[in-house]
Amino acid sequence: MDVRELLRFDGSLPDPRETPGVKGKEKARKETAALAPELTDLQERLFANGKLGDPRKVLLVLQGMDASGKDGTVKHVVGQVNPAGCRITSFGKPTKEELAHDFLWRITNALPAAGQIGVFNRSHYEDVLIVRVHDLVPRTVWSRRYARINAFEKRVAASGGSVVKVFLHISPEEQKQRLLDRLEDPTKHWKIGTADIPERHRWDDYQAAYLDALAKCSTDIAPWYVVPADRKWYRDWAVSNLLAETLRSLDLSWPTPSGVNLKGMKKELLAE
Ligand code: AMP
Ligand code: MG
Repeated sequence: MDVRELLRFDGSLPDPRETPGVKGKEKARKETAALAPELTDLQERLFANGKLGDPRKVLLVLQGMDASGKDGTVKHVVGQVNPAGCRITSFGKPTKEELAHDFLWRITNALPAAGQIGVFNRSHYEDVLIVRVHDLVPRTVWSRRYARINAFEKRVAASGGSVVKVFLHISPEEQKQRLLDRLEDPTKHWKIGTADIPERHRWDDYQAAYLDALAKCSTDIAPWYVVPADRKWYRDWAVSNLLAETLRSLDLSWPTPSGVNLKGMKKELLAE
């Protein structure tokens, strides 16, 4: 089974409660846990190769409505690998300095280095999502950004980046439940923003903006994957598999340093 094949955006959005590729929470949790050692191994290989000059890196882009599980994905999926090899960036409302630059400025500054897994919790896509829904810039400006995003991602790929873009697709009913849970749990109050409830009234505008972004920016070098995300166990299973398949496809062997005489060094050490 190829989960990338299964979840690749095909022009329409699935039911957020679906679980393509695995049936049942128990089985999914078991399979996700079984992937962890492989993910760790693959990431260490990527990191080792990066140290020795291999330019390759992975960029995982997480997008989704509020409470769609972006933070949970970072915690449960990315949390399975060595944090030393990850570069995780959350993009919120741009600062004054960021606004003074082109929208790709802060994004470019947060790209992973060779050997790293970069994770974007929200991304440059906000500049064609919330920015479009709230008319933060004129249509003439945001409508040109899709092509700029494609060109940008093409450059990332050309410099050795495997771009994995994930849309965590939840239903408005599930979001309502999760926001209610947040409101009832003092340990989650810090996550709540004043705009969270009013933003729900723009659900359809956001879905339209997402559909456009997925349709215009799903390219062969940087496809979009749609993960039905009403069930957290499915979300973790799906993103773990997308990451594992991406890393596997890099065919990472353990690198040997050039110009280092390993045999000679061993001999020298033993002769001390
Ligand atoms: P959260 O992810 O809950 O911490 O919220 C971050 C907020 O920042 C969300 O409402 C995003 O839509 C918003 N945000 C992220 N990027 C941008 C952007 N480029 N322009 C305007 N708002 C943004
Ligand atoms: Mg929020």
